[in-house]
Amino acid sequence: MMKYYIENLYLEITRNCTLECAHCFKGKKQNINMPLNIIDKVFKDIDKIDFLLLCGGEVLLCDKELERVYFNIKTNNIKVNYISIITNATILNSNILKILKELSLISNLQIYISGDKFHFMELEKKKLVDIRNKNVRILKELLNAKCWDYQYNEEYKIDKVGNALLLTQKDIDEINSWKIKTNYKIKSEYETNLKRIRHASPFIVNNSIFRYIQVDACGNISPIYYSYNEEDNLAYGTLNNENSFIENIKLIKKD
Ligand code: SF4
Repeated sequence: MMKYYIENLYLEITRNCTLECAHCFKGKKQNINMPLNIIDKVFKDIDKIDFLLLCGGEVLLCDKELERVYFNIKTNNIKVNYISIITNATILNSNILKILKELSLISNLQIYISGDKFHFMELEKKKLVDIRNKNVRILKELLNAKCWDYQYNEEYKIDKVGNALLLTQKDIDEINSWKIKTNYKIKSEYETNLKRIRHASPFIVNNSIFRYIQVDACGNISPIYYSYNEEDNLAYGTLNNENSFIENIKLIKKD
């Protein structure tokens, strides 16, 4: 059976989270993790990935799903150049550390730790700052330099979707008064951006799939960067059918 190379694969491992950040473009958290059979289906026809992003929600809530990703890469002998994980670092246990270590042995594992002002407002509210900072130290120790703390990232780009739809003009004025570079996008700009993203839908040449493919936690194949509420109308297709992952990608029509 022909195996495929994928340039950029984004997996939304979960929609659950330990935080509820005011700017979260994912919107209200949901108790949904990516089903294990969808994870199996995604990796079945692949032999190489350049960039694999595991995102959420909070990915480190998902021992079972991360283990399944590792199992699939290992048993199918898939070469993955980079695996990136985005986390808020509020949750860590020995099993998760073991899985992260395993992932770091089969690929270049990169951990991006969210830490902008919005995250810290939420961390302070939930009294999780000390735990977060302790976990960051543990992750850095485990993975040496391949762990980036975005605590000092001073550039903010907020799409007015998800939780950010609830921000009032007073909130926006306050954000803009911070001594940081702020880019508060209005929804119409976001929609234009979305059209551009959809136009850049993935395409196949021989056995290579270029651009970006995102599979969300419900098994939808979707364009990158939009909120939960909008996705049902915008998904390219679903993996909850008889077709293989590749067959589903072949069904994607360019706008
Ligand atoms: S921004 Fe990240 S950490 Fe904050 S609620 Fe959304 S998914 Fe969770």
